[in-house]
Amino acid sequence: MKLPICNFDAKNTVLCPKCESNVESGIITKADVDASIILARLAKSNQIIDQFSLYSCKEFNGNFVLTLAKNDIMIIRQSRVLYRLLQEQFHGKIWLVEDDKNDKKFIEDLFFPTKILSINSVWAPGGVQKTKAVVSGKWTPRFPIDTNKIIQIVKNARNLDIEIEFEEKRR
Ligand SMILES: [Zn+2]
Repeated sequence: MKLPICNFDAKNTVLCPKCESNVESGIITKADVDASIILARLAKSNQIIDQFSLYSCKEFNGNFVLTLAKNDIMIIRQSRVLYRLLQEQFHGKIWLVEDDKNDKKFIEDLFFPTKILSINSVWAPGGVQKTKAVVSGKWTPRFPIDTNKIIQIVKNARNLDIEIEFEEKRR
């Protein structure tokens, strides 16, 4: 397992002086520490989680954005049981994103399993640059993803203003 803090610290819910100073200087956050402890606890009885690489956990208003290795995300997406096991441990919705600098990939991960048709930079009135994401299908009240949360997460995590549009517009 790879975590933002030492595995030993996570397993024993203590921080060594090095990790402690990383928290104090802001290199790692409390959310990183909490998520590391959660994964370490689950890993004691789950060999799949024991192989995970967690790079970071960022919390925005009760949303937990977990950055994991690509392969780990694939495994979680294929297992409802594993997803629920993880989700139950957090006091808010978890969002799984790959360790990737690419903004497009980041947005696609937040929307998973909904498909994104295109992501482009557009100029909004007033000369503000925005990122427009076109989502496949049409919006219905049963659309499972809170798009306002995605807008907030992208703003906080990537400093991008995104505008979400559905392929088939509402009437
Ligand atoms: Zn440590």
